[in-house]
Amino acid sequence: MTTNGSESINAKLVFARELPMITLLDSIQSLISSWFNNHRKAAVASTRHLTPWAKTTLRSRFIESQKMEVIQMTTFEYHVIGVGHDAVVELNRRTCRCRVFDIDRLPCAHAIAATGYHGIDIYELFSHYYTTNVWALAYTETIYPIPPSEEWNIPAGIDYLILLPPKVRVNK
Ligand SMILES: [Zn+2]
Repeated sequence: MTTNGSESINAKLVFARELPMITLLDSIQSLISSWFNNHRKAAVASTRHLTPWAKTTLRSRFIESQKMEVIQMTTFEYHVIGVGHDAVVELNRRTCRCRVFDIDRLPCAHAIAATGYHGIDIYELFSHYYTTNVWALAYTETIYPIPPSEEWNIPAGIDYLILLPPKVRVNK
């Protein structure tokens, strides 16, 4: 949804972008491998159930939810009157009219306010993607450096291909 990831990589590769292609690829491998290792270590070292981002976000939304008024409409539907905007939360469908809950899969402030009224645990409503177990799983793979060309296993037929540069139109 955003270009944050590519912008982070671009910022780290400002100098490497001037290097030959293979050296640039080596720099990218090295950078991403290092990031994977750092994230893997952080995830494994975490004793929390939720990732730091999810915990901080939930805390912030919880504080916001404390200013909201909750009116129960049905067993699972709540009209939540917030500061500046209202919303309708359906806890059983894990949805809110503000769409934050639907998109993030992490309860919005309205949903948190409704859970307090409904008496269910907020931790039952977030996606398992925010757990530290899944966070650690995301970084279990290792990105190894490109081996020397003598060790490459090139499938039959590939070495006969002639790759031409892409056809591009240069604006003048
Ligand atoms: Zn909401």
